[in-house]
Amino acid sequence: MDEIPFWRRKTLTEMNEAEWESLCDGCGRCCLVKLEEDIPAAQIKAGVNPAIYYTDVGCKLLDGETCGCRDYPNRGRKVPDCVKLTPKTIAKVGWLPPTCAYKLIERGRDLYWWHPLVSGDPDTVHAAGISVRGRVYASEEEIPAQEAEERIVSWPLRWPKRAREPQAPKEPRAPKQPQAPKPNESAAAVQERSRRRPSGGP
Ligand code: SF4
Ligand code: SF4
Repeated sequence: MDEIPFWRRKTLTEMNEAEWESLCDGCGRCCLVKLEEDIPAAQIKAGVNPAIYYTDVGCKLLDGETCGCRDYPNRGRKVPDCVKLTPKTIAKVGWLPPTCAYKLIERGRDLYWWHPLVSGDPDTVHAAGISVRGRVYASEEEIPAQEAEERIVSWPLRWPKRAREPQAPKEPRAPKQPQAPKPNESAAAVQERSRRRPSGGP
């Protein structure tokens, strides 16, 4: 009988460092710059969570082709607000995309066909349209902070249809090209902050 894979028999807190790292599907969605709605301090005090908006602008270390970090070992020093993902932070951060493997496992779900741990192929995350490949408009170093609002997009928080299918389609389609933001999408975002990506196990 085949052994049950670790992500089905372990919780996030039970995973060792190698398992934890391998759980990242390499989509790069969490490495997109996000904007946080600027709401009055009184609302925050009252427990209101500010909305988070994704942009199609990449972190300065994000490689838009491989969808990986260009300097993963030194990311904490080079990008101080790169969030280290741990079981604790996974439970707290509300901005991870719904396709994120850590979120799926935290919610008791299984991984999908396109996850490299399931497919055995790191390219399936791109073929399924989950990754940011071909959709990063620019690096944050190329876009003035005040223009980031114009790059708000909704796709990082959505599921591509083929990614929900139980098995890989016969001919995966190419990912979409960067899209222009809809006029009404830029309204509420203001403060830049909060990112992204896992590091180390529990
Ligand atoms: S941490 Fe989640 S969202 Fe970020 S690259 Fe890994 S799987 Fe994708
Ligand atoms: S892991 Fe952190 S530093 Fe590296 S690309 Fe992602 S957000 Fe940027």
